[in-house]
Amino acid sequence: MSDARRRLPAVHALVAEAEAAGLGDGAPRTALVESARDLLVAARAAGGTPPASGWLAALAERLASRERPSLARVLNASGVVLHTNLGRAPLAEAARRAVADALGYSTLEYDRSAGSRGSRQSHVHDLLARCTGAADALVVNNAASAVLLALTALAAGGETIVSRGELVEIGGAFRIPDILEKSGSVLVEVGTTNRTRLSDYVLALGARTRCVLKVHRSNFAVSGFVEETGVDALVEAMGGRGIPVVHDVGSGLLLDLGPWGLSGEPLVRDSAATGALTVFSADKLLGGPQAGIVVGPQALVARLAADPLARAVRPDKITLAALEATLRLYRDPATAVQAIPVLHMLTTDAATLKRRARRLARRIPGATTTPGVSAVGGGAFPDAELATTLVAVPVPSPDTTLAALRQGEPPVIARAGADAVLLDVRTLADAELREVADAVARARAPKKGTEP
Ligand SMILES: *Cc1c(COP(=O)(O)O)cnc(C)c1O
Repeated sequence: MSDARRRLPAVHALVAEAEAAGLGDGAPRTALVESARDLLVAARAAGGTPPASGWLAALAERLASRERPSLARVLNASGVVLHTNLGRAPLAEAARRAVADALGYSTLEYDRSAGSRGSRQSHVHDLLARCTGAADALVVNNAASAVLLALTALAAGGETIVSRGELVEIGGAFRIPDILEKSGSVLVEVGTTNRTRLSDYVLALGARTRCVLKVHRSNFAVSGFVEETGVDALVEAMGGRGIPVVHDVGSGLLLDLGPWGLSGEPLVRDSAATGALTVFSADKLLGGPQAGIVVGPQALVARLAADPLARAVRPDKITLAALEATLRLYRDPATAVQAIPVLHMLTTDAATLKRRARRLARRIPGATTTPGVSAVGGGAFPDAELATTLVAVPVPSPDTTLAALRQGEPPVIARAGADAVLLDVRTLADAELREVADAVARARAPKKGTEP
């Protein structure tokens, strides 16, 4: 053993010194002891060099990073509005308040007028009917489980017809052929990658056909020699034969964003109007909590609700509280666009973004503003290019500064440019600009070298 290693303090001595200095107050003693042990292991591995900032400061830093929550708030300066890794849709203020109120005992499954058991679905049922025009609705854990539930309830033991152009993968290994297999329904592929006609579906009908599945290609675009069969034509052709059409529209668009230059995503209302069973996410364009929503004719929704799998994928009180509050905001479209963060960020005008970027740049020495592009994210509007104004912070190594920003408190997620870190203000609130500027200052400051 080298002399330097021999001179390392003992764990108990370091802990005693830390406790005498009041370090670790509020944290369990085991956390302090384990932090001290980790620090000494790291110091030994580094050849016994004591930390530049001193033992106590290094221990304090280790303890703090150990004790901070793993699931933490971040400042999203990436400009990706529906950033799946950052929790997709940030909730509206009203939804946050509703969640806080529902955390204790709540009326989750309690019918106040009867004083007896009620349905957890009742809180959002009428709101969903009003927002989508559908007769009935069911909320589950997420859209992937909603598709699985629909296929299980309607088509297990039989066949499901799907266009070859819609056998897609959507994020996190959600693959249509795999979901079908799990549901116990046999996949019958029709058409080709680029073209599927109504006649292709009709020719595939047989005694074992239970369902037709149509999937919105949400995370990519096809162009050129392409043809697909609309959900309206499918429902019309299948309705007379008693074959339900399940339409997975993905992003849950409840309001037409065409006036803001965003088109191409299916509106839930249009799909539901055809009589299809429409499936969508609540935490994409809808702007609510993670959930999957199914709307459609009563007879079909009832079959899903009665399936044993429904119990396995049911939503909790936190989800339902947030969803109810979010859906209430949709009763007035102007309110929805202002109060639902996803819609607000997607529809912020160029002049506002430019002003916000300039305000942020003024707080960061050397920063400039430059035109750029934000993304919708979440697989929605894959072709959309949202013009924005970026704040460019010149740094010697963008990757090093980005890493320091990620590790900071609170973490800031930004983008790399050439010799600069780029901050997109579309996904930042005005009230967050000061925090971002402070975080950038800390990330640019020379590292004090507190670790051994
Ligand atoms: C996002 C998406 C899903 C999965 O939704 P989750 O709510 O994340 O489970 C399924 N289908 C389509 C078309 C999607 O865009």
